[in-house]
Order: sequence, then C-alpha cells, then structure tokens
Amino acid sequence: MRPDRLNPLFVSADSLKGVGPQLARPLERLGLTRVRDFAYHLPDRFVERRAVTDLDAASVGENIVVALTPVEYRASAGRGPFRVLAADAPGNICAITYFGRNTAWAKKQLPLGEKRWIAGRLDQFGQMLQIVHPDHVSEEGAAALGQLCEPVYSLSEGLTQGRVVALVQQALTGVPELPEWIEPGLFDRMQWPAWRGALELAHKGEHASARDRLAYDELLANSLALMLVKSANRARSGTPLSGDGNLRARVNLPFALTGAQTRSIGEIEGDLAQATPMLRLLQGDVGSGKTVVALEAMLIAVEAGAQAALLAPTEILARQHFETISRMAAGTGVEIALLTGRDKGKAREATLMGLHDGSIGIVVGTHAIFQDAVQYRNLALVVIDEQHRFGVGQRLMLAQKGKRTPHCLAMTATPIPRTLTLAQYGEMEVSKLDEMPPGRQPIDTRVVAVERLFDVVDAIGRHIAGGQQAYWVCPMVRELESEDLAAAEARFAELKARFGDTVVLVHGQLRPEAKDAAMERFASGEAKLLVATTVIEVGVDVPNATLMVIEQAERFGLAQLHQLRGRVGRGEGKSTCLLLRSDALSETARRRLALMRETQDGFRIAEEDLELRGGGELLGTRQSGDTAFRVASLEQIQKLLPLAHDDARLLIDRDGGLTGARGEAARLLLYLFEKDWGVQLLRGG
Ligand code: ADP
Ligand code: MG
Repeated sequence: MRPDRLNPLFVSADSLKGVGPQLARPLERLGLTRVRDFAYHLPDRFVERRAVTDLDAASVGENIVVALTPVEYRASAGRGPFRVLAADAPGNICAITYFGRNTAWAKKQLPLGEKRWIAGRLDQFGQMLQIVHPDHVSEEGAAALGQLCEPVYSLSEGLTQGRVVALVQQALTGVPELPEWIEPGLFDRMQWPAWRGALELAHKGEHASARDRLAYDELLANSLALMLVKSANRARSGTPLSGDGNLRARVNLPFALTGAQTRSIGEIEGDLAQATPMLRLLQGDVGSGKTVVALEAMLIAVEAGAQAALLAPTEILARQHFETISRMAAGTGVEIALLTGRDKGKAREATLMGLHDGSIGIVVGTHAIFQDAVQYRNLALVVIDEQHRFGVGQRLMLAQKGKRTPHCLAMTATPIPRTLTLAQYGEMEVSKLDEMPPGRQPIDTRVVAVERLFDVVDAIGRHIAGGQQAYWVCPMVRELESEDLAAAEARFAELKARFGDTVVLVHGQLRPEAKDAAMERFASGEAKLLVATTVIEVGVDVPNATLMVIEQAERFGLAQLHQLRGRVGRGEGKSTCLLLRSDALSETARRRLALMRETQDGFRIAEEDLELRGGGELLGTRQSGDTAFRVASLEQIQKLLPLAHDDARLLIDRDGGLTGARGEAARLLLYLFEKDWGVQLLRGG
C-alpha cells in the first residue's frame, strides 16, 4: 500500500479548482490525471522576455514587455487584421495586431488612452513596429513583469497555456516535502536542490540542476525497481529444465538457423538447466528471427515435462505468433493453445482445462494468460514478446508468482544503445541476434522532399494497382497530439477520396475493437493502404506490404523509424521506404535521415544516433519517444544513469529490504514513480 504521505500527490485532477468534466478529457490526453502528473508536467521550454520602456531599445524579433497606451483603432478592409496603434512613453508607435478576432474584444482589452502592459514578440510590418497577438495584456505592471520568464507547456486541444500554468501552480502547492532518497555524498557533490524545491524551480526557469535532479530520481527509481526484480528472482527457485531434444528435432524449419540463433538458443538452454529462474533478454532487430528461438526455448520446457507461455503485447500479435508457432511445431505433437481476453465460453473453458491438466504444452496469448482464473499444471517458462519500449519490469513481475518461479525470456526488437539497455532492462543477461537470416532483400530507402507529395501519392496508386499493399505513417508526438491527430485524419480523408474504401486508418485514440478491425482488414489483404500513427510499430506482419511512406520523418526518433521500416521487406518482393522530409531541416536532422538511407543495422543506427544528437537537441529526444522515460532526456540518461545505477546497487547491497531511513525514502521514490511492483517484491521476499 502506498504510504499516506504520498496521498496528496495521487489525488485525482478534478480535486484541483477549475477542473470539471470539460477539462478532464484534454488533461487526460496529456496524461494529467493526478496532482503528481501536473507536478511532473515539466515545461518544454521557456520564453525569456526583456522589459523595455523605449521601443527604440528593443530589436525586431525580441520578446519584450512594454507599457503602451492605445491611441487609435485601425480596421482593415475585408478579412484583414484589426490594429490598435499604441504609444510607448517616449512616443514611439507600435501596432497591436489581431487576425480574425472579435474587434469588440480587442477594443475592450485595449481602451484608447489607457496604459496597458503588453508582453509579446516585437515584429515589423512595413515601416511600422508591431506585436501580433500579444501573449499577455494587463492593467498591472506587476503582472506583466512577473512574466519575464514564462514556461511553455505541451498542450492538447481544449487547453491553453494560461490554464495549464494555473493548474500546475495549484498542484505544486499541494506537493509535500519528502525525505531525501539520494545518497548524501552525491547530493552534496552535485549541489542539487531538494525534491520539492527542484520541482518548483523546474517550472520557473531553465534550472539545469533542478531538471537533472528530477531526471536522476526517475533513473534511480527505475534502476532500483529492476534490481529488486533481479534480487527477488535470485532468491527464488525455478524448475531446472533440460530436454532430450526429441521435440526440437521434429520442428519443421525450411531454413538453417543462423549462427546468432544457435548461440542464443545455447545460452538459453544453459540458463534453463539452472535452478535459479532465468532472466534473459533476447535482443534482435525486426526480422532477425526471434520467434524460432522462442519456440526452441519453449520446446525445451515441454521436453522436460513442463509448460511454457508466450505473452504478446496485443491480440493480433498473439494470433500471429500462435499461427506461426503452430505451423512450425505441427510435427512435434505438442498441443498449442491461444488464449486472449476475447475468448469466451466453451473454447475458453477447454483451454483452461488443458492448462490445468497439463495436456496443453504451450499457450500463446495476451496478459489474459496471467489472470487468476488461469491455473497451470506446471508453468516453467514465460516468454515475453516485449515490443513496447517499457514495462518489462512489470511484466516480469507477473511471472514472479507461485511456489516455483518460471524462467523468463524477454524479447525486444527495439535496437537501443548499450547505455539504454541497462536503463531499460536492468541487469538482465542479454542474448543478441546480431546476424540477419540470409537472403533478406535490402529495403530501398529514399529521402523525399515533401513538395513531391503528389508524386508519392501517384506512386502509391501504381503500387496498389499492381496488387501490393502499402503503409502511410504520420507522426504523433505527445506534445502536439491534437494537431498531429488532425493531420493524420486529414491525410486519411485525402487518400480515401483518391483510393476509396481500400484505405483504412489506425491511431492510438481509436477504440481497441475499431483498431483491431482496421488492422485485420489490412492483414487479410482486403484493405490496401493503411494510414497510421506509430501504432503499427507494435503491428502486424504483412509480407505483401512492400511500400512505406513516412511523413515528417525528421520528427521521429531513429529507433522508431527503423522499427517502422522493418514492417516492410518481409516478403519475397523488393520493398521501398520513402522518408518525406520538410524543407527546412537542421544539419543534424539531415544527417540522421541520411543514416537511415545508408544502413539497415539497427544497432548501428541506435549508437550513431546517440552520437549525432550529442548534447544538442535536448527536448527533441524526449519528444521522439526513443526512451521509456518521461522526465529524463537521452543526454541525462547518458550522464546520470551510471550514477543512479551504482547508487541503487549500493543501497540494495546495504539495505536490501529498504528498511533503513534511506531505504524508507527510496520506497517513497518507488511509489512516486509507480514502481509499486518493485516494492511488492520486497514484501513477497
Ligand atoms: P522477429 O520476430 O525477430 O522480427 P521473425 O521470427 O518473425 O523475426 O522472423 C522473420 C522471418 O525470418 C520469418 O519469416 C522467419 O521464418 C524467417 N527466419 C527466421 N530465421 C531464419 C533463418 N535462420 N533463415 C531464414 N529465414 C529465417
Ligand atoms: Mg517477432
């Protein structure tokens, strides 16, 4: 149970003044559902303004605060803007310009002859200075001058900056002081502020040390939780499994295993023979052949007289795995079952029975396979197909049940740099599929300027006329969610107008049934073009889809681009990936896209991307969704993770039960970052 002192942080958002049913939805879309979330909704950036009394002292393009007195209203003809001419103290004139706004409203804000404090960006319009849509207009100098450094938050539709600022401030007043969980020596050396102070500072301005401290907390929580999983695991016993190979010999493979596959299977076989439950990560790019490795591992369990389960992230993937595995293992005589949340009635009963009496050797499914109602006779191996970037710890937790803890194999297709492997998977053993099966056709990757959109659409037309399928991917980042969603829907409408009913749309805000239905139409070949936001990352295997268009490719993380691209190139035919880029690209962005064109080695892409970005694009890395962290940027992970990792190790070595004073504080940290499962492991022993 979460300690009481954290309760104020987990109070729901509607306890904040001004949050009713209307705001709840847009807030929820930003993940802001509890006071804690507001406190951690850190600004994307800050607008710095300078206070000036004389407009002559300001430069065009500068953000300023200035006192102006309106002297004349000037309406334009037709749909042109409405301007209020206003004078500063020395008498310089500046236009306050409003487009498409209610004139009466502007007049009320800026009455003639009355001084107002204006905050905004100074521009030039012909010979005249102007401020277009000022950020603030106030009667009080203090109010305007208090905005010299103003946070800019990510929004969703229905929210304004002002609203978010007010809610964050309100939430911060409810944030309690908490005891320090950071190791005292490190805390002093870094000269970091205490937790509560760090939160306040991080909302006030660019306080690097406050941001670092908060990032460090997130990393420490993560390292601690993963280490707790590992040490809990070490203390448990599993079933040593060794097979005689008779089932594996009857697997029907139309190919020889790669060296990397053989090596990985050997490593897994070694782990399974031990009494300590396996905790191994199988890392391999999309298409590297992880499924066969999983199957071989599961067959070892069955040969040893036990059962194995394969956990897939989605229903569709569960079904695909089930089909592939059933086909490959048809000659073995092992009974294989599919179990998802969708199964009902007799079929479900039969599956539950088979798992209970042990007649089913292998079950493939979604997390439904871990429901309480599902009883295994002897579950000894769980394979987790972790296509998501996060949550592996929590999923591992699921398996830490029962008298005998099953062996665990987590599979990931996300090529991440070595530093991040440690951050996201803790100290798991790693097997790497660093060799692709032979005969893979390279994917012809091209970077295309967005001006050539029409040519691209034509190419799609020819492509689907030739009987093949295609993906069209639109960006979707949290910070611009509503705009992105609108853009994706607009693109879908356009493509549908052109290609008709064969176009389907999938995005994260669809109901799961609608999403599955669209995905299924595409997987079955009935739909020819799938327009999607990044949800297809965790998507389907459609060998007939051999063309992918990615819009605004520069906005994606390279790991993401790489995974997306891996959706094509799965069949016999030649595949193409078109990266549409905007016209204004930074040098780094240009080189990142060039890297995509140059190589298909996910591990190389991950490492070089990290280098390319260096310390530069700080916020970009949070937005690109390359990591499982919300507070820590990629750069902070690199800089601070080794410290957090060592600190966590030290703490666990000294106080593995987290019962000392610092241990208690660390428990708070775990709850704060919702690693409740980590704390539960402590109790379970
Ligand atoms: P992953 O899950 O790692 O993305 P899969 O297991 O789905 O990859 O394998 C991708 C494709 O490669 C499948 O069609 C599979 O049959 C094939 N494959 C796997 N291993 C080999 C191999 N050693 N030689 C040739 N093809 C292979
Ligand atoms: Mg796979």
